[in-house]
Amino acid sequence: MDFQINDELAMAKKMAKEFTENELIPYEEIAEENDGVPDDIRDMIRKKANSAGLFALSVPEEYGGGGLGTLGHVLIIEELAKSTGGLANLIPQPSRILLACNDEQKERFLLPAVRGEKQECFALTEADAGSDTTAIKTKAEKVGNHWVINGAKCFISRADIADFAIVFAVTGAGPKVTCFLIEKGTPGFSVGQQHKTMGHRGYRQAELVFEDCKVAEENILGKPHEGFMLMRNWLRSGRILSAARCLGQAERAIMLARDHAKKRIQFGQPIADFQVIQFMLAECATELFMTRWATYKVAWDDDQGKDGREINEKAAMIKYYASEMAGRVVDKCLQIHGGTGYMKDSPIERIYRNVRIERIWEGTTEVQKNIVARGLIKRGEIYF
Ligand SMILES: Cc1cc2nc3c(=O)[nH]c(=O)nc-3n(C[C@H](O)[C@H](O)[C@H](O)COP(=O)(O)OP(=O)(O)OC[C@H]3O[C@@H](n4cnc5c(N)ncnc54)[C@H](O)[C@@H]3O)c2cc1C
Repeated sequence: MDFQINDELAMAKKMAKEFTENELIPYEEIAEENDGVPDDIRDMIRKKANSAGLFALSVPEEYGGGGLGTLGHVLIIEELAKSTGGLANLIPQPSRILLACNDEQKERFLLPAVRGEKQECFALTEADAGSDTTAIKTKAEKVGNHWVINGAKCFISRADIADFAIVFAVTGAGPKVTCFLIEKGTPGFSVGQQHKTMGHRGYRQAELVFEDCKVAEENILGKPHEGFMLMRNWLRSGRILSAARCLGQAERAIMLARDHAKKRIQFGQPIADFQVIQFMLAECATELFMTRWATYKVAWDDDQGKDGREINEKAAMIKYYASEMAGRVVDKCLQIHGGTGYMKDSPIERIYRNVRIERIWEGTTEVQKNIVARGLIKRGEIYF
């Protein structure tokens, strides 16, 4: 067994760590107060991120991406996630689902997304179809050479600013689902209500509405009726990256709690001298350590090209475990801060709110447990 992270990946991780500390964290308060940063700061962060090679990390080099495997992507996202989603998400990381683009679509969607000229959003969830993705009602009907789309999506991240949407719509009984790439400005396609959320200010969610929205056959991503397969592949990588974000947020919280515990004097001594505080820190560090290695292992397995079903199940395990771990860790770290941790100007207060979403999006903890349990009951063994 080789537990080494090679020099190239270690360098990339270090660079992402420094970028987060120097270029993202200083703007957190601004993003928090203004629900995002002003355009000039956004452009500056993007420019620096592009020069640092942080755009499109997992997209193959032949399309201008970073060409990193899953482990490399995890290592860097872990670092960027130490800041807030409102800043980390300014750095374009086009969805890997876009690798299914045909040549014409690559020119229109993938390559501009890699260069940061166009942004996408991923539109699956609907008011009556969250965990149960088979319940989606947005429909696409073939009329002549075109498809006509009707329906609405909700909770869609970046819906307000995206240049195009990756939209899943029912195209047949079963249901059969097809994935469409739909540009903003297409008649019948509009952004609906913007949602107000608990955390990650600047990384916004909104509804998307389709009313007799006519799109061409060329807008289908992959093959008609094969949208679920694309969706599953996307969710798999999304879940591994969710675990990576949890590692980053948990580590930042632990470091803040450690610093606070060393500085805060009560009863004539730093609270870090109290064994109960030391035990909380020890529990947090241990939980992070164990989850980190499990996450790296799954990412590494993915890079070895292991079977998709195996990775799906392992991704469900680490997504559920890392998000629950981060929730426990950040809660303890806030406790170490005492009342200071409850104050709005404390970064730990922000992390506490931000980390909560990881147990919900990309499939809830309960949905991940369903996947793990199904595999265990069917096969009767636990993947190594
Ligand atoms: C901030 C944010 C950003 C998002 N971004 C996007 C996006 O960009 N694109 C997109 O398509 N979606 C997005 N979503 C939607 C997200 O993926 C869903 O919210 C999530 O999948 C859960 O669906 P739901 O909210 O409808 O909850 P429900 O499905 O209604 O679940 C409610 C509760 O029931 C439980 N539950 C449901 N089914 C089962 C079951 N079979 N067994 C046990 N328990 C069950 C759930 O675990 C949960 O606890 C986003 C959501 C949020 C909050």
